[in-house]
Amino acid sequence: MSHQLISVPIIKPVDALCNLSCSYCYVSGLRDCNVKNRMQPEILKAVIDFFCHDQDDVEFIWHGGEPLLAGLCFYQKAVELQYVWRQKGKRIENFIQTNATLLTTEWIRLFAGNNFLVGVSLDGPKEFHDQVRRYSDKKGSYDDVMEGINLLRNEGIFNGVICGISAINHEFPREIFNFFLEKGMKKLKFARVKDTGDCGDVSSLAISPTQYTDFMIAIFDLWLEADDQEVEIRDIQSVVDLMLGGNKRECIYTGQCGRFATIYSDGSIYGCDSFSKTDAVYFGSILDEPAIVRSNSNLRIFQETIRKRRSYCHNCNWHFICKGGCASDGYERLDSIEPLDDACKNRKRYFEHISTKIRSYGLM
Ligand code: SF4
Ligand code: SF4
Repeated sequence: MSHQLISVPIIKPVDALCNLSCSYCYVSGLRDCNVKNRMQPEILKAVIDFFCHDQDDVEFIWHGGEPLLAGLCFYQKAVELQYVWRQKGKRIENFIQTNATLLTTEWIRLFAGNNFLVGVSLDGPKEFHDQVRRYSDKKGSYDDVMEGINLLRNEGIFNGVICGISAINHEFPREIFNFFLEKGMKKLKFARVKDTGDCGDVSSLAISPTQYTDFMIAIFDLWLEADDQEVEIRDIQSVVDLMLGGNKRECIYTGQCGRFATIYSDGSIYGCDSFSKTDAVYFGSILDEPAIVRSNSNLRIFQETIRKRRSYCHNCNWHFICKGGCASDGYERLDSIEPLDDACKNRKRYFEHISTKIRSYGLM
């Protein structure tokens, strides 16, 4: 049996704790509030049991802050707890997203030995990356990140890059694209730095939907031009696949945001990681019965909003791809049904550009 609601956990074993101090960090607000707990073994066991109990295939996504700060023993324990469920026939996968600066041969041995796939945050060439992804003494992290990536690649467990697109680098799609290809990093995901209203430099680094769409359109053209089957840009791949009748998709094109949940160190369950940690997206505790969490009133209201958004957009030509888009982006409030004009216009522009190009290549 498998549930759609709350079925993919994004686990923050150390909440927002991080060894870097990136200028645009969207959890900086939490860090300032000293939310620096560490997940205790009984909570870890409850997390693993909660998600393995009634699903045959489970993806655990380990996130932060910096999830390696939980320590080697934490993940050894996680693997042991998962083993019990594997013995019962469950298929379990582990994905971890790290800044890669703390990776050592011990970590690589643990991850490689247990089939973890490791994604790394890297904002392109050193001159861009080091302006934003820095230690608290302002030293850039690029050299350490590249060392970490090399260790991962040597073991074949490097799962590509998430590259933040901010005011620093959005005007340089060609430089960024060429950099990744030259380094042989062909599995890429881009993420817009948004103004979350948190403290720090977030507002000055945030870019608008129009700026981000310009960037992504340029990346799409470069991707076509490169004609390299190995280059996989997650968002573009999903859109193209959906246009060609397939169903490979990023969460943003599934219309199923209720599947994703963020689990904090104390076992509290909130909406997907792209939402701020607010009461409106608090869905319960990992110590509760799964059935109770899945019938939580906030979760029901959230699901109903998503449904209304989907039906509001029903007549749009791009509904079969977009379905109203990301639930945390492009709406004025959590309960808004109508998408913001700016977000919607840019989505349409992006889809139209891709579809025109694909048609001109005779693929559609
Ligand atoms: S809210 Fe956005 S990022 Fe989160 S699951 Fe939904 S589409 Fe994905
Ligand atoms: S492009 Fe705009 S109208 Fe169309 S489905 Fe997406 S959000 Fe809705």
